[in-house]
Amino acid sequence: MSEHDPKPQHKPVYVTQPYLPPLEEFLPYLEQIWDNKVLTNGGPFHQRLERALCDYLGVEHLALFTNGTIALVTALQALRVTGEVITTPYSFVATAHSLQWNGIKPVFVDVDPDTLNLDPAMIEAAITPQTTAIMPVHCYGHPCDVAAIQKIADNYNLKVIYDAAHAFGVRDGGGSVLRHGDLSVLSFHATKVFNTFEGGAIVCPDARTKQRIDHLKNFGFVDEVTVVASGINGKMSEINAAFGLLQLEHVDRAIARRREIDAAYREQLAGVPGIRCLGDAGEAAANYSYFPILVGPEYGLGRDALYQKLKDQGIHARRYFHPLITEFPMYRGLPSARRDNLPVATSAARSVLCLPIYPALSSDDVERIVALVKGA
Ligand SMILES: *Cc1c(COP(=O)(O)O)cnc(C)c1O
Repeated sequence: MSEHDPKPQHKPVYVTQPYLPPLEEFLPYLEQIWDNKVLTNGGPFHQRLERALCDYLGVEHLALFTNGTIALVTALQALRVTGEVITTPYSFVATAHSLQWNGIKPVFVDVDPDTLNLDPAMIEAAITPQTTAIMPVHCYGHPCDVAAIQKIADNYNLKVIYDAAHAFGVRDGGGSVLRHGDLSVLSFHATKVFNTFEGGAIVCPDARTKQRIDHLKNFGFVDEVTVVASGINGKMSEINAAFGLLQLEHVDRAIARRREIDAAYREQLAGVPGIRCLGDAGEAAANYSYFPILVGPEYGLGRDALYQKLKDQGIHARRYFHPLITEFPMYRGLPSARRDNLPVATSAARSVLCLPIYPALSSDDVERIVALVKGA
């Protein structure tokens, strides 16, 4: 022992860490793929995962995809959306990119200060004769005001496509939150609550819509010699689907551990001046995918100073969603991207910090993070 005890060393902590089941549990799946030599194109694991996810999520029809972004692009194609689409600036950039890739103009509308989801009260004023759809995001997995959004969509004959990338397994009073709107799009990216390494899905209201989407994700092929649309390659491979089946067996436990961490943060950060924990929607309406706090002026440090302080201690919190989508060069010239059109989103982007939350995060690390936040 040296004279000075070494400082306790901690491993770096990231905002999330993908959940991986024990490797040996995956090997039998790989053996099956090696045996039957079906690697993709709607093979047996793909079919099983579609059914298993429908059961788990409580939806009737779902089409798997190679990732959530191609699923968003395809959802817009499936409903033949054109012109302008009303959406939120407070999201991951893929939401708006999916519109741009379809030659659709995004029209940004501000968010609600309580949920940071698209504010239904702001939507109507943004509707023009070119508007054909609304693309809201269930931000952090907290459900949008689906009833108010549907009412506007019905009044103006607009489609609704939910970017539900954060909303795996989230339910409301009537069932899965994914049943709302015309389509809902999931992401199974490595950083999401349920992952297939890369992956995604479109939740469809009926078998016919699913069939059209299945054609679109396979180049538009209906059979060997018939192509009915200029489709894309959006298929999920057998390896990803097999991993999804295994992951599904673990996901309830993973979410339960996230719930514990969420509860610990909420309890221990309650009453810290200037810190507001976002969205305690109740158990069913949450999957604990993120733990966003808003750092207000009464807090001792600015948001960026707190972010840096944590980083200096090896805790990599993330400022989702800063910068806003509307700050990026391909969107910032749009009239709807002006900051004075988006005061709530602009202020949220300046004050938000997502704290680490994932199943393997230890209670010691949670305490250390809480102590650092409290100690400012
Ligand atoms: C992750 C994410 C996407 C994109 O999903 P990928 O599977 O990574 O393509 C889209 N929208 C939101 C809100 C996301 O968080």
